[in-house]
Amino acid sequence: MKASLGAIETFGLVDGPGIRCVFFLNGCMLRCKYCHNPEMWKKGEDNLSVDEVVERALKCKPYFRDNGGVTFSGGEPLLHSKFIVECAKRLHEEGINVALDTAGVGLDDYDEILPYIDLVILDIKHTDKDAYKELTGLDIDKAERFIDALRKHDNKLWIRQVVVPGIMDNHEYLDSLVNYLNKFKISNIEKIDFLPFHRMGREKYITMNVPYPYEDKQDMDKDECDKLYKEFIEKYNNIYKDSNLT
Ligand code: SF4
Repeated sequence: MKASLGAIETFGLVDGPGIRCVFFLNGCMLRCKYCHNPEMWKKGEDNLSVDEVVERALKCKPYFRDNGGVTFSGGEPLLHSKFIVECAKRLHEEGINVALDTAGVGLDDYDEILPYIDLVILDIKHTDKDAYKELTGLDIDKAERFIDALRKHDNKLWIRQVVVPGIMDNHEYLDSLVNYLNKFKISNIEKIDFLPFHRMGREKYITMNVPYPYEDKQDMDKDECDKLYKEFIEKYNNIYKDSNLT
């Protein structure tokens, strides 16, 4: 079995805990306006085998220490669910943990893949159905089917929210996000990150001859984003008393 590989990062520090070997798999059904990897939208040739993943991971294993491991990212790794299950079985035999960095829009076979995933890192695109469609081009129902599946399983969860100026940088959106997270098992949420929108992918759109959707947007100010996060986490901890996020 093979999957379509876009890139490998052998010392990833942001896609899960510890040092990670990150496999970026091609293909995605969404078209997020802030996407900085448009070159990964198309699936392309299946050029990565399970053996190659295990071999690479074993080379990196000495750096993983207690909490590192392998992360499957994308594009949308859920489009390669069967491949990831095969990899995860082999990686677990080697004592290597497996994270999935996803927007939750895949092939609806989530009950089959989730038992093999140690950590799910999930992008919340938007909490409102119309705004979700405007931002991504698809219906929110698809992402919510993945959230429904998560509720039946016990994966650890990291939540990510890209903050786009003029869209998510307001009190109403923060309130809606706090409420939206009620769809998850709160006790499984270990971390929530706010990522400031940036225009670093713009050049790729120009190279691909695709109009850049956020030509009118500036980068999100990082300090402002940190301030919004503080406000959010205060509201969150106020509502979900058992949570201890900082
Ligand atoms: S889900 Fe990720 S890869 Fe897909 S369009 Fe959105 S940002 Fe890009």
